[in-house]
Amino acid sequence: MKRLCVLCLLLFHLSAFAQVDSLSLPSGSDIGFTNFAKGSGAAIDTLDVGDRRIQIVLKDDNTWYFIKNIEALAEDELFTGYWNEHVVNPYTKEPFDSIRFRTTICLVDSVSRFVCPHQGKVFSKFGIRHGRPHTGCDIPYPKGTPVYCAFDGRVRLAEVHRGYGNLVIVRHENGLETAYGHLSRIDVRSGQWVHAGDLIGLGGSTGRSSGPHLHFETRYHGHAFDPQWIIDFESGTLRKNAFVLRRSYLSPYSKYVPQSIDEEEEIYMSEEQIRAEEERIAKERAAMKYHTIRSGDTLSGIAKKYGTTVSKICSLNSGLKPTTTLSIGRKIRVK
Ligand SMILES: [Zn+2]
Repeated sequence: MKRLCVLCLLLFHLSAFAQVDSLSLPSGSDIGFTNFAKGSGAAIDTLDVGDRRIQIVLKDDNTWYFIKNIEALAEDELFTGYWNEHVVNPYTKEPFDSIRFRTTICLVDSVSRFVCPHQGKVFSKFGIRHGRPHTGCDIPYPKGTPVYCAFDGRVRLAEVHRGYGNLVIVRHENGLETAYGHLSRIDVRSGQWVHAGDLIGLGGSTGRSSGPHLHFETRYHGHAFDPQWIIDFESGTLRKNAFVLRRSYLSPYSKYVPQSIDEEEEIYMSEEQIRAEEERIAKERAAMKYHTIRSGDTLSGIAKKYGTTVSKICSLNSGLKPTTTLSIGRKIRVK
């Protein structure tokens, strides 16, 4: 997550730079340095941005756009850690205390967009309902209504699950997971990469349901929080581009509070606070070290090489145990 936030900052700076650039330079044909037929918009080159997951494609009309490198994304710990295609919450072994008090989540940026899964009025809200936790929002619709993926990501689970009926859970690059329950038909399979706006399935009333409705959840590290913090379902829009998720929201007892002042304060932190936060993130990032597994590598050998211990390395890599077979080419965090 921290790496993704840094990425957001980087993209912000890049887009700011590109705007200045296009204002101060005449277009290529005006000053005659281009060898390309202008305006066809054909891609002519790609640029790395220091993050394998993103590349810039340059076009012959002097514009550019970002693309995602799916192979690099697939290797990211976000899509390898706690990955289970049959369990709703695979994070049960992760201690709640390890979640930060406050996490900034980029919901949309230069490479990511949002599509409302289904626009409509929330009939039953997130929270305690009849003494039981209700971990999502219910939005009624006629059976067969198309349900769309909210953000880009990878389908983690797509199958029948007790109360949920036909259920799809998608893990997103922003660190969130979204869940779509009671579907009459599932149109994706686990492991599939999806974009915001892709068809997830059709609405229905499977599982514990009293009528056709979308049961929609937003989860962070397995813990559900009120989706209305980020989505206004009636207008089908995001409430904000960047969301400051507090750890305290990760409970069925915590509900979205419309126009809460605290929320504003969280986003418009003082310069000093932002600088301190950025310095902390940069420090953490600088301290991180990765090792790519080569033939003959053992965990104890790697630990010795980097002056650490096997158990410390395991604690830095979710799912890694001292007995895990190391596949060549895998990247593990060592510091
Ligand atoms: Zn529900």
